[in-house]
Amino acid sequence: MRAEIVAVGTELLLGQNLDTNTAHIAERLAANGIDCTHQVCVGDNLARIADTFRLALARSDAVICTGGLGPTQDDITREAMAEVAGVPLERNPEAVALVEAVFAARGRHMSPSNLRQGDVPKGATIIPPRLGTAPGLIVPVGEQVIYAMPGVPEEMAEMLERVVLSDLRRRSGDHAVIASRVIRTWGLGESALAELVTPRFDALEHAGPSAPTIAFLASGMEGIKIRLTVKAGDAATALAALDAEEAQLRTLLGPLVFGTDEETMEQAIGKLLLGRSLHLALAESFTGGLIAARLVGVAGASQYFCGGIVAYDSAIKHRLLGVPAGPVVSAEAAITMADGICSLLGAEVGLATTGVAGPDPQDGEVPGTCFAAIALPDRPTEAVALRLSGTRQRIREIGTISALDALRRRLLDATP
Ligand code: ATP
Repeated sequence: MRAEIVAVGTELLLGQNLDTNTAHIAERLAANGIDCTHQVCVGDNLARIADTFRLALARSDAVICTGGLGPTQDDITREAMAEVAGVPLERNPEAVALVEAVFAARGRHMSPSNLRQGDVPKGATIIPPRLGTAPGLIVPVGEQVIYAMPGVPEEMAEMLERVVLSDLRRRSGDHAVIASRVIRTWGLGESALAELVTPRFDALEHAGPSAPTIAFLASGMEGIKIRLTVKAGDAATALAALDAEEAQLRTLLGPLVFGTDEETMEQAIGKLLLGRSLHLALAESFTGGLIAARLVGVAGASQYFCGGIVAYDSAIKHRLLGVPAGPVVSAEAAITMADGICSLLGAEVGLATTGVAGPDPQDGEVPGTCFAAIALPDRPTEAVALRLSGTRQRIREIGTISALDALRRRLLDATP
């Protein structure tokens, strides 16, 4: 089974939006053992999209397309598929009902143009949308097939996993189960991590075709992910192989691992705080609320997160948190901020950040000089120096997850 990816959208051709969909689909195809030989990007032009589909079908068994399924005049992927399949575009009652249901559920008025999303090439199968309004489509072209999914990355990824990958594998006649698991880490760069994992690479290389494969995926402030993929005759065998390999990796990596699959750093911290009946308060300077935003992104965060202040101006650090007059980018200032916010908000755990995000130096310190301090009950408040580099945005983002990780590691040591 050979698949080709087609990304539709003039904004992608102009470089205004990055084509992340293609990369995501390519990675998931590889993990599912489906060859991808070509990837094409094409603008919102009917003739050119149709040509792209024809060329793709001349050299691949399946085309996976994203974008151009919306309600506006420049959303013409449906028309192009109908043309290539040699069938008319028909208003499909099932597709119309799905779009209407999405608007009704959100209490939003549906404009007549949205009815276009119910226009479907004759003979197509409709993929109901779960996240957006655009239904996806499976359009047969003889023995071949075009899958069309919305351009919005989350909507696309959800449909890909729910319908497209399994449909592709069914068509390829491959009934083996492919399962994967992501192990999320923070604290080491990709090469240092790969070195630690070398014994497992070596062991798996000699373990035969049913052994999991290991791949690294650097994901910025989400950490470095290690993806395990296994192919087996049934789900239970695949799961057992993943469990066994995860255990091996956890032994090697220890506290570098903060979660698996979709588990984020802030969820891991939430669990630790809840398990220990602790409440967290924040005093954020250079992270400016980024830490708080991540924490409250987790449902139920009010059970362990009290709140915080963005103590950006030095005067706030002095006045509200008790930092003595003088430089505010130091381990001592961070420690005072962490203790100060605990007293101010009545929390047992405090996390504070102070540092220079740049581009200019502050208090004689170069950009990237940052500190996080953690106050915990029954132990002295500690600061860690974070050596960060890059743009202001990167320093703030990496500082955020590094501070959270410093907190996580200390919570791991604290008695439950
Ligand atoms: P909608 O129903 O939301 O209109 P659609 O299928 O019409 O979906 P587009 O209008 O083509 O999709 O794109 C919607 C948004 O999705 C774009 O603004 C863009 O931000 C994003 N997008 C589209 N294609 C890609 C891609 N290949 N990679 C990443 N993002 C994309």
